[in-house]
Amino acid sequence: MNPGLYIHVPFCIRKCPYCDFYSESSLAQKKAYLDGIVREMDLVARDLSVCAAFDTVYFGGGTPSLLKPGEVAGLLEAARSRFTFAPDVEVTLEVNPGTVTPSKLAGFKQAGVNRLNIGVQSLDDGTLTFLGRLHNAREAEAVLKEARGCGFSNIGADLIYGVPGQDMASVHADVAALLAHAPEHLSCYMLTLEAGTPLYVRHGKRDFSMPGDTEQGAFFGAVSDALTEGGYLHYEVSNFARGKQYVSRHNTKYWEMATTVGLGPSAHGFYTEGEAHEHPFRWWNVAHLGNWLDCLDRGERPLGGKEALDREALMTEALYLGLRRMEGVSLAVFQDRFSLDLKAVLGSVMNGFEDEGLMVADAESIRLTRKGFAVADGIVLRLLQSL
Ligand code: SF4
Repeated sequence: MNPGLYIHVPFCIRKCPYCDFYSESSLAQKKAYLDGIVREMDLVARDLSVCAAFDTVYFGGGTPSLLKPGEVAGLLEAARSRFTFAPDVEVTLEVNPGTVTPSKLAGFKQAGVNRLNIGVQSLDDGTLTFLGRLHNAREAEAVLKEARGCGFSNIGADLIYGVPGQDMASVHADVAALLAHAPEHLSCYMLTLEAGTPLYVRHGKRDFSMPGDTEQGAFFGAVSDALTEGGYLHYEVSNFARGKQYVSRHNTKYWEMATTVGLGPSAHGFYTEGEAHEHPFRWWNVAHLGNWLDCLDRGERPLGGKEALDREALMTEALYLGLRRMEGVSLAVFQDRFSLDLKAVLGSVMNGFEDEGLMVADAESIRLTRKGFAVADGIVLRLLQSL
């Protein structure tokens, strides 16, 4: 599989209270950041030989749509002059409503972006207020329409559900409102409380209560049913595509453990080429813009850490990532890679999951049912304990 390039843009106008991604709310260092990304490209090109052509570039964040189209074009040009790109490279930019105009969107398209992922999160003002988002439903709908109007034919949207105050009717209404815009891709996440975030602290003070497991499971089923009935493939626990051609090519690299190069503060990378094929390694950058720039000033890669993955770690990831996908885990590929007959080793545990309607195991693969997707993490944990 071809490698993918990820560029983390660490700026947000304001921190959302549930978010634990790294970002800065001041744009004062934007120019230094842009120069830094180009220097990091040079260091990566020096240190890692990425032989195949990149066929995805993903601008994630943070809020990449705070960059100007010319700045995105500049980064793409810098990458093209240092790495090889496939002719049909998928270039995704995350966009937050409230940070773009139609002409800016058109500028991104002109710059070479061919896929947008819009941080809609909800089309209900009450839910957006609880989430502390900067935008309202009207602004989110406007961006969805404007993106289409600018000629983007591959649009993804993010949805958060399981938000305090929501009930089944409001979750249904949110999904229906998004479906009206027919995005090609949807990432739907249950709200989770990340330790240390303001929302986590508020929850600790009993400001609000979260939906219980049963209610969350019901929401998960409702979202899956509504989107599946709407013609979407539920191809990964949290991801839906309006046909196979719209499956996220970039995210598939993470799920298939292909080489990905991450640039920018807090970005992660995974390398599995050449000698590293047997023992791939991952690395992660320091999650602080100032420290990241200091490393680059010294001519050093801004690494926060690096770890080689041994056979056991690779098996764990292959099982975890594979079972979160519609295709599941191929028994032949697993046997070939790890010399392990999964069915022979895990047969009795898997039979139990099959009896509960959570898993299907046939001659080719093991995969989770929709009911199994809802409790995927618990199933994988149980399987790993039995390996
Ligand atoms: S806009 Fe996105 S990345 Fe930025 S703080 Fe909010 S959720 Fe986090």
